[in-house]
Amino acid sequence: MMRSVLGWVLLAVGLGQAQEFDLLLKGGRVVDPRNGRDGVMDVAIAKGRIAAVEPEIDPKRARESANVQGLLVTPGLVDIHVHVFYTAGNPGAWAGDLSVQPDAHSFRTGVTTMVDAGSAGWRNFEMFRTTVIDRAKTRVLAMVNIAGFGMISDATEQGDFDPQAVARLAAKHKDVIVGVKSAHYQKPDWDSVDDAVEAGTRAKIPVMVDFGYFLPERPYYELVGKHLRPGDISTHMFRAPVPFVDKEGKLYPYLVEARKRGVKFDVGHGGGSFVMRNAAGSIKNGFYPDTISSDLHAGSMNGSFMDLPALMSKLMALGLPLKEAIRATTSTPAEVIQRPELGSLHVGAVADVALLRVMEGEFGYWDNNRGKVTGKERLFCEMTLKDGQVMWDWNGRMGRDYRTLGEIYGIRPRVDQVIVPPQD
Ligand SMILES: [Zn+2]
Repeated sequence: MMRSVLGWVLLAVGLGQAQEFDLLLKGGRVVDPRNGRDGVMDVAIAKGRIAAVEPEIDPKRARESANVQGLLVTPGLVDIHVHVFYTAGNPGAWAGDLSVQPDAHSFRTGVTTMVDAGSAGWRNFEMFRTTVIDRAKTRVLAMVNIAGFGMISDATEQGDFDPQAVARLAAKHKDVIVGVKSAHYQKPDWDSVDDAVEAGTRAKIPVMVDFGYFLPERPYYELVGKHLRPGDISTHMFRAPVPFVDKEGKLYPYLVEARKRGVKFDVGHGGGSFVMRNAAGSIKNGFYPDTISSDLHAGSMNGSFMDLPALMSKLMALGLPLKEAIRATTSTPAEVIQRPELGSLHVGAVADVALLRVMEGEFGYWDNNRGKVTGKERLFCEMTLKDGQVMWDWNGRMGRDYRTLGEIYGIRPRVDQVIVPPQD
């Protein structure tokens, strides 16, 4: 009797040890800009959080481990500009809905957090929450459009602005609303921008502006120099009409001034908001994007944007250092949306992790106006974890040799029967 009690105690201790970590990522190169880490390290995960980051962690301390040698281990990518709720754009340009399903694009590209940038406005946000945000496996956050019905069409974005309604909504949905959006505004005044800023001030959240139409009555330099507050975001920074460099290739000083004020510059590549000319001039002058986002939607996904790791690679081909590309898709976007628990691999952080391969070779990158560069590297996502769960495993690292799984694996007890045809 005594012996069996002792046996149970020993078993419990043994189990306790074995379950210290749920998963160990072994031998990858950890690049974690928030914590100034870049080097080969093991990363242990327990209960959906980062539990240890050390040069050597014994696999016996983890229930499962994955060999990730040769891969970059970065925080799960945070894409602060996507469209995952009904979005139509210009009348006549598209039939039906331009938005995409978040889970169809996120994990396979290392993205664990997506911020919908104003697809829904303050009148239809709750429908968005119920039908998309609460059902997606991807962490979907949102910037609410200052226009009531958001991006149902370009026409709906020309009015129906209500800063108080947006602020009320943001307070009610604090867990998912991280900003306010103004986009596609065509009139020569600042109403859309200024009302979005008023909403952002009331709700204490940032505003993202898609300037849309560049009119002489409201120049871009006034947007970033005057109208946006510190912490607000100018998306589509490499859109063709944004003045970047003069004839000598020198950066216009208004950009540096705006950055000094605290305005954030976001890529938001999209279907037509990126010209290589501006990206090249910016990077050459060391004016790196604060955040690299996709502007993912059905109209951009098959164009020159492709996916977020491809966009990071494109900017690297123009001279952006790898670590800057990772910073701009992890720690900085997390800070910009005031979610410091994301985009980081510190012990205790949410265990969102992207495992990226740096492929070497000859790779072509282009913009939607056929401007092209070539590069020697390309990032490719092999594995993605969200809240410690493996959500994407391109190389089957979590699998086991099927021949070791016994003869009846996959058959559900009591429900399935293996009925072999009569032999004759
Ligand atoms: Zn957009």
